[in-house]
Amino acid sequence: MTIIRLQSKSGTHRKIIDEAVGNPIRHDYLFDTLQAPGSLPDRRTRPLTMFYTQSTLDRADHLRKDDTRMQALRQHHDTRLVPLWQGQSLVNSAREDILPQALLLPADTALPPGLCVFLGLLDTVPLFAVDVSSLDEAARDELAGHALTRTGLSVAGCFTELRVAGPLLPDEDGSLLAYARGMIYWNNNTRHCLRCGTLMRSTNAGHTRQCTRDSCGYIVFPRTDPAVIMLVSHTPEAGEPVCLLGRHPSWPEGVFSTLAGFVEPGESLENAVRREVLEEAAIRTGEVRYVASQPWPFPRSIMLGFEARALSTEICCDPLELADAQWFTRGQLRRFGSWGDEGGGYKMPRKDSIARFLIDRWLSEDADLISPASV
Ligand SMILES: [Zn+2]
Repeated sequence: MTIIRLQSKSGTHRKIIDEAVGNPIRHDYLFDTLQAPGSLPDRRTRPLTMFYTQSTLDRADHLRKDDTRMQALRQHHDTRLVPLWQGQSLVNSAREDILPQALLLPADTALPPGLCVFLGLLDTVPLFAVDVSSLDEAARDELAGHALTRTGLSVAGCFTELRVAGPLLPDEDGSLLAYARGMIYWNNNTRHCLRCGTLMRSTNAGHTRQCTRDSCGYIVFPRTDPAVIMLVSHTPEAGEPVCLLGRHPSWPEGVFSTLAGFVEPGESLENAVRREVLEEAAIRTGEVRYVASQPWPFPRSIMLGFEARALSTEICCDPLELADAQWFTRGQLRRFGSWGDEGGGYKMPRKDSIARFLIDRWLSEDADLISPASV
């Protein structure tokens, strides 16, 4: 495999030539166009962007199965590594005023033995997630001190929880770190065969795991746990539309959010929505409509977002699930504070959550897509 650079007025282009096939895998992708930190997208002005879903990365699954090619790609000088240390991601900062970015490591970085997962090609740059959890804190900080931005600038970084940095990261960076985190977590938590209990080994460049017992050989694929999350609304005959939000007993004071729960075997997503709302708040729901989904690698969920129309309004909370639940008008929600605000009062859920997306969508003037006549 050869990577060549092409200079143009607009920046440096690279071309990956697959010599085995004789054709470019992807070509003429703009690469290395330096972006001043001030020109990074500002998430705070884009409330209806779904976090962790805006990736342009080519997962290039056709490359994973060729171990020889994978090893060559891993060593290639253009390759970049996405390190994770005990679940934490490498960023330049977790401060809102500095505009955090994901940081990478050069391919020749000295690393401890550990898991390596091929993530794909981002603007033709091969990316691998690497688990560096065995490093002590001093070695971790040394590693973080020799990082690179995606555009190749040398930057001193720090390992930070994605749940802290995620709401502040540009779309592509947040999506990349969520993907890397999810793959490393799944590999690290799928150590033993589900059939016979023997150790499994990473195969297919980290995208499958196979039992090491010859007589078994069971193969598993990455798992993600489906969870439904729903904005339940009600439009009374007289008065303003309202939506149902609740708060879990463990959440920060004042935070209310949409209800959510895991899908159980043997039920449709729509039935899971109706069951969860009934179990948690004793509200019966009728029409249920899918809206959007979001990977949520904390640790390994896929959040499936819905809108649902209430058929009843009297709330009765399951105390194990909800400390409180209430109906709120749009006017009331617009006066809510933000997650992390100091002091009392009602607050919105996290900025990077699909719950916030569903609420912001409902708040927008054209969001109430389920017309009362269609119920
Ligand atoms: Zn087995």
